[in-house]
Amino acid sequence: MVRRKTVVERNKELEKEGKKLLFYGMKIRAITTPAQYQLIVKSIGCARFAYNAYLAEKQKTYKETKKAISYSAFKKDFVVLKKNPAYEWLSEPDKFALECAMEQVDDAYDRFFKGQTGYPKFKSKHTSKQSYSTKETNGNLVIDFEKQRIKIPKLGWINVRFSKGQIASFQESGFNGKVKAATLTVHGSQQTHISLRIEEVVSLREETDWTTIPNEKIIGCDLGLTHFLIDSNGNKIENPRHLKNSLGRLAMLQRRLKNKIKGSSNYKKQQQQIAKLHLRITNTRKDFLHKESRKLVNENQIIVLEDLNVKSMIKNRRLARSISDVGWSTFVTFVKYKADWDHKKIVLIGRFFASSKKCNGCEEKNTLLSLSDRTWVCSKCGREHDRDLNAAKNIKEEGIRILAET
Ligand SMILES: [Zn+2]
Repeated sequence: MVRRKTVVERNKELEKEGKKLLFYGMKIRAITTPAQYQLIVKSIGCARFAYNAYLAEKQKTYKETKKAISYSAFKKDFVVLKKNPAYEWLSEPDKFALECAMEQVDDAYDRFFKGQTGYPKFKSKHTSKQSYSTKETNGNLVIDFEKQRIKIPKLGWINVRFSKGQIASFQESGFNGKVKAATLTVHGSQQTHISLRIEEVVSLREETDWTTIPNEKIIGCDLGLTHFLIDSNGNKIENPRHLKNSLGRLAMLQRRLKNKIKGSSNYKKQQQQIAKLHLRITNTRKDFLHKESRKLVNENQIIVLEDLNVKSMIKNRRLARSISDVGWSTFVTFVKYKADWDHKKIVLIGRFFASSKKCNGCEEKNTLLSLSDRTWVCSKCGREHDRDLNAAKNIKEEGIRILAET
């Protein structure tokens, strides 16, 4: 078998031609036929079976022999199992879906050994995310922008709805990527999404000297809870608080669910309503984050942001709901990849940089500043500060300092 070249190797070759590989994702709403939907649900079940079977075998082998069973060894057994008439149903979905599921077990172990996640768990029909993944082989994953459809193994062409942004970017520059993998997710509300991983060969751009960018094209941003964002020019973006507004309704729906008989058709209907509301909240939040990150990248050359370790902040439970509601980390991700597309610069500054406490006028540190102080007066130079605006200005300056250093 010919070994596939790694991304690093391919990039090395492409570099000679002034090109590189770019990877990105695309999430699309699918409009499935009932038959397609049925097969997707079945495929999810089969993928879960493959995942759990491999995980169980790994655990058993380790218990008995203290040795790890390899994927290739298990795959041989699995092929035999599939031939058994009792497991005929495993041949219904495309075989790459089952392979991907087993590879996910190895990935889960890798992350566990790196200390990134807990010990791999079995997947459940009720609590795990209902999705399966498949990978590209001989061009079997195809995207058709004109007819708004995507071809997936065994399912054939699935009608989809591309977003306005996706269509606009296709019309502007065409689609030159290659679909490498697809994940199909079914939500409790019976909606289906397809997430694609796309690889594209793009030209390397000339190096820019970022220190020559004029000051007005550089912006510092402070992400907060009272405002979603405040920039060093004094623009404030209010917090949308989607979740908070919908929480009342969510609580009501969940209360109603309690009064229904588990497993009854009314119970299921109620569950679907709750899932729908969750999905709507997620979508509205994403739209908001896309819109604001696009604007920020369009209007500036260099964007300075705080490197938030949201995860550690979320451990503070009182703030947790508001923070995950605001979606800072998603926002930073969006800004990063949009900036990468448009050849703009992102500077992340360490989260221990005391951006709020330093006076932007004289650099005096206000050690008495507490979280509830929204405005303050510098004891040394007498300047009056809006807490967040002062922080945004400091963030911008720190970004410029870091840029000059590197
Ligand atoms: Zn001062």
